[in-house]
Amino acid sequence: MKFKLVIILILWSFVNQLQAQTDVFTVVLDRGHSEVDKGVTAGNTTEYDLLKSVVAQIAGDVKTNVKVVYYNESGAFLSIDDRAKAINDLNPDLVISFHMGAGKLPRQGTIYFNSKNPKYTASEKYAQELIQYLTKDAYYATILTETAGFKLLEKVNAPAIMLEIGNMNAVRDVYYLQTNGAERLQSNFTAFLNSLN
Ligand SMILES: [Zn+2]
Repeated sequence: MKFKLVIILILWSFVNQLQAQTDVFTVVLDRGHSEVDKGVTAGNTTEYDLLKSVVAQIAGDVKTNVKVVYYNESGAFLSIDDRAKAINDLNPDLVISFHMGAGKLPRQGTIYFNSKNPKYTASEKYAQELIQYLTKDAYYATILTETAGFKLLEKVNAPAIMLEIGNMNAVRDVYYLQTNGAERLQSNFTAFLNSLN
């Protein structure tokens, strides 16, 4: 009788483990640009350098069933095709590509989708959820949504969005993200990640 119980317990923990593995929600955080193509330059800062520090710490403590993969941490130059292929190989549930806009208007983020993304509807749904979390910080008074033809969003198989967390030519945005803004962004972004699973 005892023996049977042990077997049942072993089986139960095995099933539980399997379930935990399949329940993992994988998010790829793709920081835009590279050491070669640094994106928008404003003053003595480039989009790449700003994103490098902000995106590296944008995910705080996430639940064990949410897996965050920072894509291309080294900043190597990759073509869009190579980037998309490497991201698809990770088989993620969601891809978020980070950029800064070039505009001068402060306190404005933008989320882009591409209607050719195979999971376009889901991409829109995640974007709306993300907006609810990001706008908890009063600094982000406006987060626009736009459809655009960004190739990376088209070539990845998972739901994918591009998030511009501010404008490079808005001095206030750059300052905010280099000071206490990054921490607030982290807190709200982490809450969003933890809502995914
Ligand atoms: Zn960019």
